[in-house]
Amino acid sequence: MISFNVPPYMGKETEYMKEAIAGHKICGDGPFTKKCNQWIIDKTGTTQALLTTSCTQALELAAILADIQPGDEVILPSFTFVSTANAFVMRGAKLVFVDIRPDTKNIDESLIEEAITDKTKVIAPVHYAGVGCEMDTIMDIAKRHNLTVVEDAAQGVMSSYKGRALGSIGDYGCLSFHETKNYSMGEGGAILIKDRAKAEEAEIIREKGTDRSKFLRGQVDKYSWVSMGSSYLPSDMNAAYLYAQLEEADTINNNRLASWNSYREQLLPLQEAGKVELPVIPEHCVHNAHMFYMVTGSIKERTAFIEHMKKNDILTVFHYVPLHSAPAGLKYGRFHGSDEVTNRVASCLVRLPMYYGLEQDNIDYICEKVREFYR
Ligand SMILES: *Cc1c(COP(=O)(O)O)cnc(C)c1O
Repeated sequence: MISFNVPPYMGKETEYMKEAIAGHKICGDGPFTKKCNQWIIDKTGTTQALLTTSCTQALELAAILADIQPGDEVILPSFTFVSTANAFVMRGAKLVFVDIRPDTKNIDESLIEEAITDKTKVIAPVHYAGVGCEMDTIMDIAKRHNLTVVEDAAQGVMSSYKGRALGSIGDYGCLSFHETKNYSMGEGGAILIKDRAKAEEAEIIREKGTDRSKFLRGQVDKYSWVSMGSSYLPSDMNAAYLYAQLEEADTINNNRLASWNSYREQLLPLQEAGKVELPVIPEHCVHNAHMFYMVTGSIKERTAFIEHMKKNDILTVFHYVPLHSAPAGLKYGRFHGSDEVTNRVASCLVRLPMYYGLEQDNIDYICEKVREFYR
């Protein structure tokens, strides 16, 4: 059976975890956490990066930093994972879903401005498949309407838009290091923060509302409870695991890109024959091969395709039941405008196996079975 995803293991993870244990510093903000934070800062050019226990928690932290109050509105795509929405719902926000672009499956930036009301506070673009949203347009709209931008860059580590790293363009960026993502620590994530004062605030919120981080740096002589907060720090053992993968980020990225390019090359004739739609990467975007997908002709065709692949020992999956039609989406949000793309893509998109170390023989076999289905 060809798996859909196999989390990478680069070889040094165990050694680094042992090192963390031997150092008797396995709680949060230990040496490996600091190395990971610095790696993210160096790679993305953001002001501050802080590891969290998940991207979900990074998004929740961003919603607090954006000062979301009950009744505030957040503009986001409906074609995304539930965490993008939940983070704001938990602070009492109303969700305003807009349609996605047919090419990148990212939020359609041309529909954002008309969805803005006097309650709008945040725009939350999601970089689907690690391909950048039209951030210049989004940042311009945010600036003119005085809105905060929270990038869900869960899938976008090592990707960029016009030379800028995904997650570093908006006010806040949220990354995921879940085992289904390109770099993993089991469960984990990070928040990227542009503003220096907000970075200090974040440090306090994620240390249970205390100024303990300042205390540990010797900036205050005792630490106290200074604001609302929670615990968002991962154990340094998990950070040690992640650091081994970040050190090998180029190896992982190049390997995934090679697989992605091979898929594309082999399946392009099917697109040219009008059978399927393949991913589109705009020229000004560098992607990270997080995902290789195809958009089939109908939901019926997709169901038959997944069945055909399974019979041939290949696991393929679909995702994102549109949030606006889910029970919680109906309760917490509304769809602005008409759904021209979201539902079609959600019903017809299928993802092929994609992971570090996927063998060329397997890619060739998968492509042969895709062609067989469409013969
Ligand atoms: C994976 C993912 C998340 C959640 O990441 P966790 O680290 O599992 O919390 C959020 N948004 C998007 C778009 C994702 O793909």
